Amino acid sequence: MNGSAARQTAAEPASAAEISEDTTSPAVDDATPLAAEAQEHVDLARRVQATARFPKPAETRVFVVANQKGGVGKTTTAVNVAAALATKDLRVLVVDLDPQGNASTALNIDHTEGTPGVYEALVDGTDLDELVRPCPDLPGLTVLPASIDLAGAEIELVSLVARETRLDKALQSYLEDCEDAGDRIDYVLIDCPPSLGLLTVNALVAGREVLIPIQCEYYALEGLGQLVRNIDLVQRHLNPRLEITTILLTMFDARTRLSSGVADEVRKFFGDKVLRTAIPRSVRISEAPSYQQTILSYDATSSGALSYLEAAREIAVPKES
Ligand code: ATP
Ligand code: MG
Repeated sequence: MNGSAARQTAAEPASAAEISEDTTSPAVDDATPLAAEAQEHVDLARRVQATARFPKPAETRVFVVANQKGGVGKTTTAVNVAAALATKDLRVLVVDLDPQGNASTALNIDHTEGTPGVYEALVDGTDLDELVRPCPDLPGLTVLPASIDLAGAEIELVSLVARETRLDKALQSYLEDCEDAGDRIDYVLIDCPPSLGLLTVNALVAGREVLIPIQCEYYALEGLGQLVRNIDLVQRHLNPRLEITTILLTMFDARTRLSSGVADEVRKFFGDKVLRTAIPRSVRISEAPSYQQTILSYDATSSGALSYLEAAREIAVPKES
């Protein structure tokens, strides 16, 4: 499986900006001519467009998108995988559990200070159906927004009863209400902040599956041991059904040995939990949030959009044997 990440990453003609992003590594892959890259892009487009809809899971799948390392692509992954699933006819809820509110921004949901959101659910016990908002651009996608008010929650939660299980309680009751109303949510993606504090613990208690985005950069693996140990602790003491099921390599640059090296290490450690698709480093992906868009609406045919669609397909469609 090693090395397959390079093959599975959609090729996009590199812009000057992208090329200048990595001048430190001399390792340019001469074996991947532009024509082959273009062909890969076409093949990937064909593959992701071939499926008009993904199957509904037997029960709601709740993913915690976590990695305490900052800037590794947690939010980008949460919003784009969510958007990809929603475009394939599934009902998806994104829970923005980061006071930075980046997922809310990317999905064009108001989250100015004082906007009710996940803070009210955690601290005041407000029902989620009063707080969840539809994403204006994507039918089927809803968002529990976060505003900067959430920054205080980490401290306020400490003195509250059942401080680790408050999100779980709120989410389960909301999911049951949706199901009773005949409007079952298929996927929930919880976007965690870059820390292992009480907010992330609440997410790990509320979730069933952990999705860890790993940036294909030096130091990528540092801190992973601690993350895995924390997940293990939560699993043993608070949520026995929690499991790391999905690893996604992000900001993969097929032209560098560094990216391939990190990908190989990650695959050695996590085996087939690592999605075959790696998300390429792409300027288009990083531009999309400033237009309050996901990559799927910002540039639907770009390598970034196709890769997130393919990653979502790997998550949603059971593996062929
Ligand atoms: P934080 O820990 O602060 O919450 P994060 O892990 O959620 O960060 P993101 O916000 O998703 O990380 O990404 C960090 C930065 O990298 C953002 O500016 C984002 O636009 C950019 N980025 C994410 N994925 C890619 C990619 N595949 N190619 C290029 N830029 C990317
Ligand atoms: Mg984030």
